Amino acid sequence: MPLITLDHPVPATAPRISACPGLMRIVPARDGGLARLRLTGGSLSADAARAVARAARECGSGVIEVTNRANLQLRGIRADAHARLVDIASAAGLAPATESADDIRNLMLSPLASDATRTLAADLIAAMQADAALHALSPKFALQLDGGEQLAMLDHPHDLWLAALDDGARFAFGLAGTIPLHAHDTPALGVISRDDVVTFVTGVLRRFLALARPDEHRMRDLLARAGTHALAFPEPEAALRSWRRAPSDATLRLGAHADNTMAYAGAQAPLGRLDAATLDALAAIATSYAADRLAMTPWQSVLIPDLAPHAAHDVLHELRALGLATEPRDPFARLIACAGSAGCAKSRADTKSDAQRLAPLLPAHALAQVHLSGCERSCAAAHPVATTLLARAPGRYDLYRGEQLAACNLTLEEAAERLARSTTDA
Ligand code: SF4
Repeated sequence: MPLITLDHPVPATAPRISACPGLMRIVPARDGGLARLRLTGGSLSADAARAVARAARECGSGVIEVTNRANLQLRGIRADAHARLVDIASAAGLAPATESADDIRNLMLSPLASDATRTLAADLIAAMQADAALHALSPKFALQLDGGEQLAMLDHPHDLWLAALDDGARFAFGLAGTIPLHAHDTPALGVISRDDVVTFVTGVLRRFLALARPDEHRMRDLLARAGTHALAFPEPEAALRSWRRAPSDATLRLGAHADNTMAYAGAQAPLGRLDAATLDALAAIATSYAADRLAMTPWQSVLIPDLAPHAAHDVLHELRALGLATEPRDPFARLIACAGSAGCAKSRADTKSDAQRLAPLLPAHALAQVHLSGCERSCAAAHPVATTLLARAPGRYDLYRGEQLAACNLTLEEAAERLARSTTDA
């Protein structure tokens, strides 16, 4: 059975139980309130990171998750701590600028986005927050602004994507899909100049809302009924049909990297989870070695950008000392898991604990990701994953290769044995 891939782990209809209605989303989960903190392009100042760590300690269970859209979420928020959480987030600049504008900030960037791209993203988010008509968009409605970086998540489908051409002077754009990489991918629909991006995007979003029926929440829903021509874009230049973006390299999120212009170090939070002490330590590293800034990534990992080149390996050593994975072959750089039965009533297994048990059993020579999902909603993976273990019952999983069912009702040991065998056979 294929997984239902979601871009957003919180259902659009989830009740808001925030003490400050509309300002932040705090939804009930099995382990208490779940609060999402949206970060512009995954970027987080060291001071804001310290504030998040404080909020996790004072208002919740201390668990901080990096999401697959490079945001943070806090788990176990107590019912009497919602107002305190909103206060801390607002003081740290992490709350939306306008009431009900939280969900509109769903814009993905590369964690290594340039200052120019991040400035454009900030302008875009400000314009979308300021336009109350756009707040009617579904929380799942997602945008991507791609500056052409070597490290970029290109597997997530987006309702509207823009990708830099000509060093960012112009942007190709497309709807309801991914940026084209391969010959068979859907080509871009058109090109706009950088100066027109904000006006263009807000115009497309308003047009979508005007045309979409009440049950059409995503761009793909509208296009399936009305076709792309409903958006009335001019005919694109012929050369655009063959334009393909250069591939990215996800392994660049890990390790120390330096060239003449920049240096950074990256590491993976095991199963996407940090605790308050670790986030405080990351903020201290960013202050000591870099420019007081962290970058969360859609692989649920963290980067310390803006390092002096000679400092990158020292920082990597500190990241390892915090227990973060820094090598692509580290099991925790390859494993992802949803909240599981400890945090979600829908889960048929404790996926987080099972992933911890599976980690030492994974074949050491493999690189492919393994995804443990408590049900078909696939909250932890918004992109195609080589191997998915879909829970059937506590400690029991069906194994999928892509969307193909390969084996049923395996224990973790049996699943690990299958993975080792297939890796050896490959
Ligand atoms: S069980 Fe996992 S995948 Fe299913 S809804 Fe819960 S968190 Fe999402």
